[in-house]
Amino acid sequence: MEMIDFEGAGGVETGRLERCLGLTAVRVGLGRYRVTGGDEPHWVDLRSQLVPRCDCGDHLWRERVCKHILAALLREGDPRVIREVGGLVRQLRGPRR
Ligand SMILES: [Zn+2]
Repeated sequence: MEMIDFEGAGGVETGRLERCLGLTAVRVGLGRYRVTGGDEPHWVDLRSQLVPRCDCGDHLWRERVCKHILAALLREGDPRVIREVGGLVRQLRGPRR
């Protein structure tokens, strides 16, 4: 499977990552998701993993990896997004004593 160029898309931003965890991604086809739980439902298409698509403004206008795409990737079990979630948890937990 092709890998998404996260860095080319601005990387995974912590705020979006945090918000994606509250969303529900339902698989409606091969690499296609309906993501709910935000202001309104959105459609995500991961079929071209290099250029994932979402119909929200964040993705269309800012060309960023939006929270909906992250939610869909998490549902797919994408190892990089899971790693990013791990990093977020460590960050929130603060330095270990
Ligand atoms: Zn989106």
